[in-house]
Amino acid sequence: MTSQNPVFIPGPTNIPESIRKACDIGTLDHRSPAFARLFKPAVAGVRRVLNMGDAGEVIILPSTGTGGWEAAISNTLSPGDTVLAARFGMFSHRWIDMCQRHGLNVEIIETPWGQGAPHAAIEAALRADSAHKIKVVLATHNETATGVMSDISAIRRAMDAAGHPAMLFVDGVSSIGCVPFDMAGWGVDIAVAGSQKGFMLPAGLAILGVSPKALAAMETATLPRCFFDFKDMIRTNAAGGYPYTPAVGLIAGLARAIELLEDEGLDRVYARHRRLSEGVRRAIAAWGMKPCAVSPDLHSQTVTAVVVPEGCNGTDLVQLAAQKYDVAFGVGLGEVAGKVFRIGHLGSLTDVMVLSGLAAAEMCMADLGWPIKLGSGVAAAQDYYRLNAG
Ligand SMILES: *Cc1c(COP(=O)(O)O)cnc(C)c1O
Repeated sequence: MTSQNPVFIPGPTNIPESIRKACDIGTLDHRSPAFARLFKPAVAGVRRVLNMGDAGEVIILPSTGTGGWEAAISNTLSPGDTVLAARFGMFSHRWIDMCQRHGLNVEIIETPWGQGAPHAAIEAALRADSAHKIKVVLATHNETATGVMSDISAIRRAMDAAGHPAMLFVDGVSSIGCVPFDMAGWGVDIAVAGSQKGFMLPAGLAILGVSPKALAAMETATLPRCFFDFKDMIRTNAAGGYPYTPAVGLIAGLARAIELLEDEGLDRVYARHRRLSEGVRRAIAAWGMKPCAVSPDLHSQTVTAVVVPEGCNGTDLVQLAAQKYDVAFGVGLGEVAGKVFRIGHLGSLTDVMVLSGLAAAEMCMADLGWPIKLGSGVAAAQDYYRLNAG
């Protein structure tokens, strides 16, 4: 039997039935008005989810989150330009690596894994840059490797306090659509999302919000770009089309995903993610374990990296869960490989579904001889969910 279990990885997330059906459309001429009818609501919906107001442009590329990063830098920067980034997990690391491979000069603020974006150090680095060499501050909103959510508004305040004109690019791949995102309010110049996390779609789209300031930067940026060129995209989108064949099924699914999010109500979607994550943390505490995020203000509402007891290996749990129970959890990546396992609690999930994931994790721990009592974490989460039901 094909597994009917939900996945508990931090992406790709579970795809609701109605989104799967929405993606399943017959061949459609992407140069016809029928495509524009499908595309426009998706773009308008992304604008609302990102809180962009009327400013800037939404860009939807056939790609993934990683391609969204590449598009962000290649459209706005030139070889040798300096960007500022903190490294505190696998995803912030990969973005830095990509910038270096593009010939950019990355000023890196090394930050222990489990901590968040270091606002004070960012402010200090910007103050020290009196020549304004730093063109962009890169921020990973939700570091999916460690389950750390950083405060983007605090980064904006640090930038303003330093009086620095750099742009702010935010990786929101594992946060957008799950937690509030205020592109206009936080002064974000490029926000990057992917289809397969908060938008509950299959992988295949990079979804970006681009501010007027980032659009202006395109005029002088000389990094090579073609497939990802925003200009071609903006020009053809304005006429209801694409510079090449769009991923029509995924775009239809995206429009449906936004309907689902807005039917539930974005505030309720965000409240659900807060509630789900708190139940997971209660369970972890009952197991006598801790999240990798070092303080409560950094706790991610979409993924928790659980630090496993001394002598235990988080990867063993993930492998056993897949083999024996057909349940997917996330392994630890990079510096925290083996030291954590990750529970994704984002996208199409309910309290009851999360309880099943916690129960499966407990069965694996018992099978592996880890020092926990079956039912302890589930009971703690049950108590929280029952008293805080949405
Ligand atoms: C998943 C993820 C990515 C990479 O996205 P892909 O769609 O796999 O390319 C980048 N950043 C963060 C924070 C992520 O969670």
